[in-house]
Amino acid sequence: MLGRLTRYLRFLGHDTVQARGLSDGEIRALARTDGRVVLTRDRELGRRSDPAVLIRSVDLVGQLREVRTAYPSMRMVVTFDRCPECNAQLAPWIPPAAGAPWPELVPSNALETGLTVWECPSCHRPYWEGSHAARIRSFFAEAWGPGASP
Ligand SMILES: [Zn+2]
Repeated sequence: MLGRLTRYLRFLGHDTVQARGLSDGEIRALARTDGRVVLTRDRELGRRSDPAVLIRSVDLVGQLREVRTAYPSMRMVVTFDRCPECNAQLAPWIPPAAGAPWPELVPSNALETGLTVWECPSCHRPYWEGSHAARIRSFFAEAWGPGASP
C-alpha cells in the first residue's frame, strides 16, 4: 500500500522493506527481529506495532512529512546509494570487457562522457545522475519546503 513511500525513502538511503503478502503477525515479527519501524495505513497494525507510524495521508508528500514529523532527525538528503526497487546498497558499475556486449540500459556514451554509473548487486539495474535523478532531487526540495534543514 505504501510502495511509493518505500521507494522514496530508499532515495534518501533509508533501509526499507515492503511487507507485501505478509500477515500482520509476520510484519510485527520482522520489524522486531530487524529493529524496524512499521509504517502503515492500517490503524489496527499501527496500534499493535511498536515502534510504528500510522500514515494517514494519501499523497506521497504528505506521507513523507508524516514520517519526518515522527522522526525529526531522520536523514532527509537524497543519497541515491540504495536500489529503489529492491533496497540493496548500490555498488560502482564495472564496464563490460572489450568485445563484450554493452548493457542495454546504460547510456552508450557513459565512458566517453565520464558518467558515473552505479549498479544494484541484487537486481542489476544500472543508475546514474540523469534527468530522473534531478527530478527526484527537486521533488524532495519541494516536499520538505523552504526552511527545512536537510
Ligand atoms: Zn535492485
